[in-house]
Amino acid sequence: MHDDDLDFQDLSKFKKKEKEKFFPFTSIVGQQAMKKGLILVAANPRISSLIIVGENGTGKITAAQGIQAFLPIIEVTSDCLTNCDPRDRMFQCTDCTASGGVDGVNDDEMIEIKTPFIQLPVGVSKERVLGTFEKDGTFVPGIVAIANRGYILLERVNLHDADMVKTLLDIRDIGIHNLQVDDNNYRHPAQFSIIATYSPSEGKLDEELIKRFQLMVNTRSLKDIEERIEIVRRVEAFKEDPEDSLEKSRREEDGLRALIINSRRLLKRADIPSKSMNAIIEVLKAHEMDEPHLRDAMVEGVKANTVINDSVWASIEDVAEVVDMVMGHRIGKELES
Ligand SMILES: [Zn+2]
Repeated sequence: MHDDDLDFQDLSKFKKKEKEKFFPFTSIVGQQAMKKGLILVAANPRISSLIIVGENGTGKITAAQGIQAFLPIIEVTSDCLTNCDPRDRMFQCTDCTASGGVDGVNDDEMIEIKTPFIQLPVGVSKERVLGTFEKDGTFVPGIVAIANRGYILLERVNLHDADMVKTLLDIRDIGIHNLQVDDNNYRHPAQFSIIATYSPSEGKLDEELIKRFQLMVNTRSLKDIEERIEIVRRVEAFKEDPEDSLEKSRREEDGLRALIINSRRLLKRADIPSKSMNAIIEVLKAHEMDEPHLRDAMVEGVKANTVINDSVWASIEDVAEVVDMVMGHRIGKELES
């Protein structure tokens, strides 16, 4: 085992047997940048994508899976296959539109579900990702449909088919997926966030593909012996008694859940005053990158940073705290910290 491989790898094997129990996010030692990136994505679902770059054993996958514990409950239309938001007039699937859209939904036709969180299997078929139709023309939703208003995790993104990753990013950019097979057609919202993990030592990933992700954060290999011992201790304790570990971290996990719920509530009112907007534009112009998609990335990241600080007015500090996540992978900053 490589010197930097901590026990997190061991943990991911263990979790396959204990599917429902995830190592608590708040028990991950250090890795503040990674945790921050994930909290921003959980707080603001309009952040379309985040890539976590760092060596094996730094808890990337554990942390990404860990956010499931504090994602909120969402309301969906009960007979909708694609988690349409019953109150969203802009985005409704073919079936919801046919039954009257927002005006066709009564309160008793709404149900609450956990925010979808889907780990994309490596080598998954195109039909499974995009959806398909049965012989009689019935729409069979793909991952881009059932992940609507949720998250898609691409563990070890370099192992996935690059075209598939590009397709997912393309669909997310549009926010709508139009599935057309022969004479069959189905249209549905596809507003998921993509979270990818990548270890540069496991293989190369096209730089242009990395730049497609709105935000990037790095993990660092822990050199501090005390931090390493603490990680091993926590991981061992979790393996021995997951319930006990979860109980001990319950307060912190509950705190994070409350933060995410509060953030999403504030997000509707979050605004970027002109002083902060000018700071965003100045940063982009300084790098000759004042492009609409990068403004979007900055705006959504800054709004997320604002609401997790219990505010609705983005400050210059909010801009400063997000700049590296948006620009780091675009200005050739070392991917490994
Ligand atoms: Zn629908």
